[in-house]
Amino acid sequence: MKFLVAGAGLAGLNAAWELVKAGHSVEVFESNDRVGGRCWSETLSNGEVIEHGGEFIDVNDHTIRRLCAEFGLPIVSLGITFDRRWQVDGTIMSSGELAENIRNLTEAAERLVKKQGYRTSLREVAREAYGPDYASLPYCQKLFATTTCDPDKVNGIAIARMFQGHSKGYIEHRGRVMAGNDAVAKEIHRRIGDIVRFNTPIVEITQDDTGVRMTSASGEVFRGDQAVIAVPLPRLQKLIGTVDLPPLMRKAIEGRVMGAAAKLNIVVSGDAPPRGMQAPGAPWWSWSTEANEGYKARGALTVYVGGKATMDTLRLDDGGKYWLEQARRYRTDLNVSDDYILTNWGTNPHTGGAYSMPGLDWEPEQDNVFSQAVGRIAFAGEHTHFASLNGALESGARAAKLLTLI
Ligand SMILES: Cc1cc2nc3c(=O)[nH]c(=O)nc-3n(C[C@H](O)[C@H](O)[C@H](O)COP(=O)(O)OP(=O)(O)OC[C@H]3O[C@@H](n4cnc5c(N)ncnc54)[C@H](O)[C@@H]3O)c2cc1C
Repeated sequence: MKFLVAGAGLAGLNAAWELVKAGHSVEVFESNDRVGGRCWSETLSNGEVIEHGGEFIDVNDHTIRRLCAEFGLPIVSLGITFDRRWQVDGTIMSSGELAENIRNLTEAAERLVKKQGYRTSLREVAREAYGPDYASLPYCQKLFATTTCDPDKVNGIAIARMFQGHSKGYIEHRGRVMAGNDAVAKEIHRRIGDIVRFNTPIVEITQDDTGVRMTSASGEVFRGDQAVIAVPLPRLQKLIGTVDLPPLMRKAIEGRVMGAAAKLNIVVSGDAPPRGMQAPGAPWWSWSTEANEGYKARGALTVYVGGKATMDTLRLDDGGKYWLEQARRYRTDLNVSDDYILTNWGTNPHTGGAYSMPGLDWEPEQDNVFSQAVGRIAFAGEHTHFASLNGALESGARAAKLLTLI
């Protein structure tokens, strides 16, 4: 059996690896010149490993943790809290307050479902949960930044249900792969062998009784028996024009929204402890994480902004200079250098954005649409499962399983 895979991010790579392990012939097509997609690590001039994209590995992210164990890749603690961020006045919400914020959001969402149905925006749910001053509330600022999308265009019910927290109370202690998260992608690539064709964007996919066909931007045609499509949402939305899909699946793909985000990774020095800190009066934040020897912060500060509206206020067109100054002004706990890397996912040609959220027309039935193949094609990627590194890996394994079960 010959399989074609479009996209060599974590989803496509894991699908390819599962298929290779099952003894199939596989070919992977990638528009970029590297594997990993939004899982992309780099080393700053002072030797600190940073992440351009996906960084925090949750305690419940068992698939990526299992792969790291298998590959012998240590996951180190970040040493900061993700949902509870320090404010410049030296305060931080307690875990009880965090639990209350999450509970308020969930309860508001369920009240609004009863009142007006599922077509309810994230802004409506936030206003119902936190009142008219919702936008200045630390938890709400975190929520809007993390979802990376216009809060009027994404579904507040789906998002509130997604962020309900852990069943055994809230657990922080997230981690990162010490060598860089993309070591996972690189190791899968090494194990699957030389089957990834780089600089080969797929622009058309068709299927019939005899097999599947992928066409690249340069007009090359590739044929196989079955295919996994693991390209980012905006690219998928273009590709499905030539594929006959069940109406619910089409609605889930067309209605989902891609967000925008950017990161500034800066060389820093100082003896301060690791700390995640909200920018004063603005919905973006920054974090310095724990050094490998513990307690002290590493020599890297990551500054993150989610959502186009806030990104516009940071004048990213100047290459990050204005944003760097804003970060330096409030991160007085560290010596913030001029040595930095700006990554703007809003303008990334390969992904068309940062990560995706359910759109206003989301309904609960859409949640399981990708647990079926469509003829010879299965879909993978964060947009088909959960918008995380772990979610992408799991979606790839699911797609491979769906096709090999046929
Ligand atoms: C700024 C940022 C912060 C994040 N933070 C976190 C975090 O802290 N924790 C976490 O778990 N997750 C985080 N994520 C999300 C996580 O990185 C993604 O969910 C995950 O990496 C997506 O993997 P994927 O395989 O679905 O997509 P991708 O990694 O985008 O892979 C898709 C691949 O398809 C390629 N491609 C595109 N078009 C075509 C085409 N036409 N033909 C062939 N190939 C194509 C792309 O180049 C890419 O390599 C973050 C993401 C961003 C951007």
